[in-house]
Order: sequence, then structure tokens, then C-alpha cells
Amino acid sequence: MKFSDPATARTINRLRVLNLLRQEGTMSRADISRSLELNKPSTSEIVASLIKEGFVEEGGKVNTTSGRRPTAVSLKSDGHLVLGVELGSFTTSFLLSDLKGTILRYERLPTPPEPDAKAWGEQVIKTCMKFAASAPVYGIVVATAAAITAERKAILRHEVWPWRNIPLGEAIEVHTKVPTILVHNVEAMVMAERTFAKEQSETLLYVNWAHHINAAWVNNTTVSSQRSRFGHLPIAQTGLCQCGGIGCLETVSAGWALKEKSQGHSAKQLAALAKTDGLLAQACTAMGTALAWAASITGAEKIILGGGIANIGEPYLSMVKDAFAHHAHHELAHTPIVQSALKEQSSNLGSVAVALDHWIFRSSVLQSLNEH
Ligand SMILES: [Zn+2]
Repeated sequence: MKFSDPATARTINRLRVLNLLRQEGTMSRADISRSLELNKPSTSEIVASLIKEGFVEEGGKVNTTSGRRPTAVSLKSDGHLVLGVELGSFTTSFLLSDLKGTILRYERLPTPPEPDAKAWGEQVIKTCMKFAASAPVYGIVVATAAAITAERKAILRHEVWPWRNIPLGEAIEVHTKVPTILVHNVEAMVMAERTFAKEQSETLLYVNWAHHINAAWVNNTTVSSQRSRFGHLPIAQTGLCQCGGIGCLETVSAGWALKEKSQGHSAKQLAALAKTDGLLAQACTAMGTALAWAASITGAEKIILGGGIANIGEPYLSMVKDAFAHHAHHELAHTPIVQSALKEQSSNLGSVAVALDHWIFRSSVLQSLNEH
């Protein structure tokens, strides 16, 4: 990017105004101009074009010491909507959100076991088309556990299903006429934590503990998840993993393994599982041990557990922490390990958070500019 280019500077200032209003709510033009150190004519020009584009609206008055009460502006929350799709092991969720992250409509379909890429892809496209036909959708994001191509339009390789080179984003875009990208599911969960729970740690390890286990290593604006195989750290001597390996973390701690060992109890019936030979206690100890290894390599300041099994409750989370403290280097033993502040919404809100950021606020672009 050439910063001296007036068009680029204008684009950046436009994003700064949008992000400021997202953070502060209602402001006068004068406050915006002061806060961003931007001259008044430029501020007014940017605000006028944001109003014209439907992102911002006038309304309310702001009190000032001089007694003047200038007209305030704020985000026009329903001015543009985004659609987030979470393509998960059990369910495929569609969430229509406004600019403030309020979910206006929600639909949930059961993902078939071993879904066929073509058949299930068509179902996803159809549902997206239905949403796009009923509301002005500005952009779509699909989150799933997969490596994604650089232009973010196709699945290169899914972590769980034998899906290879599936141009899902491109197909959704062609059929809905709405710009669409794909994102790794844990990268999306990190964005949800930062957007909706105001997570500010510069370095963190985010583990999605669900039917499968996967993770992301976050270092400032860099989120690495697509090549990580945290769920397949060798933790046990025996136990055949779904990946073909022996003794992976998943064989002790993943929802699928707990379900198999407890003879078909749903992974969500955690009380039942707890009584089954201490299976859940073993799962927590293995998780804590694996986290100690990951923390030893990354030195993460914080560890966040998201996904369905992270809802196990405090007595079990303590077992994770105890195993971590037992195995971690003494200087790392007090690394905070917390459940996602978004609880059971941790995975669902990921695609919405990425959609708002990628298609509208571009806060990651602004952050990387600040770093340079
Ligand atoms: Zn494995």
C-alpha cells in the first residue's frame, strides 16, 4: 500500500471512522475529527459518504461545554447485514447479523455423517441463497476445519472429511451474487473472542475442544491454525485415532472418543460420561498435559478453551489446570487457562466476526498499519 496516495489515505481514514463509531457508539463530527486527528472537512466528507453508503446514520445530539448541541452520528446497525456459516461435524449453522453483531436470523441444519462435498455443498449454497434473497447481505463467510486457498475461495484439504480442492466459496458467490470467503474454524473463533469478548492478549493459544480438537496459535495479527495438528499430539501409548495414528490427544480427549468409550452416550451428556470410569477426568488430564507442551514451545500468555467440551464446568477445568501446572515449566505454570467468554456461542459467532471484519471494518488492516 502507498500511504502517500490520497485514495489509499482516504480508504484508511474511512475505516478509522467506521471502527471508531463501532467502539464509541454515538459521536459528533467534531469529536470524530479530534479523536482521529483528522481535519474537519475530510471528516465531514467521509461521514457524508458513509451515510450515503448506508453504514452510518444521523440522530441524537451530543452535549458540549459551549452549549452547542451538534447532531451526532452512529453506525446504522441494520444498514448492511452479513451472513456467517459454520460448517461443523454435527451441525451447519447460518447466522444473519447486523453491523453490531446482533443475530437477526438463525438456521441450523444437521450435518450428515461423512458429508458428500457436492451434495452438502449444494445444500449450503441453497440455504445461503434463501438468506440472500430475503435480506440485503453484504458479504458471506464460511468457517470450517480446513486448509483454505490463498484467495480464500476454496477448501484445499478438510481436516476431518475427505474433501480436497472444493471451490465452495466460489460456488456460493456465483449463486448468491454476494462476495464470499472461507476461513479456518479456529481462526474464526479467535476473531469472535477478540470482537465480541474484547480479548486483548497479544499472544495466545486457542483450543477448540469439541467432537474433534484443533487449535490456533495467535501472535499479534498473525493467527496460525491451518497446519497445526494439536489434537494429534502423541499423548498415550495405545488407542487408534481417526487420523490413523496411535495415542493422539483426540483418542483420550475428543468428543468422538469419549462417545465411543461411553458406548454411545452423546458427548454432550457430560454427567453420564463423568461416571463412566473417570473418562472425563482422563480427558482433562491429557488436555492439561498437551497444553503444557504447547505452552513450552509458544510461551503463550494465555490459553483459551472454546467448543462444546470446554463447557464442562469448574471442577473439570481445575483438572486441566492441575495437569498443566504439573507438567509446565515453573515459570509458565501460572499461565491463565480460561473457558471462552462466549461459552456455547464460541464456534457459532466465529464466522459472523470474520464477516464483519473482512467485509466491513477491516480492523486487522488497521492493526497491521499501526504495527509498521
Ligand atoms: Zn490422530
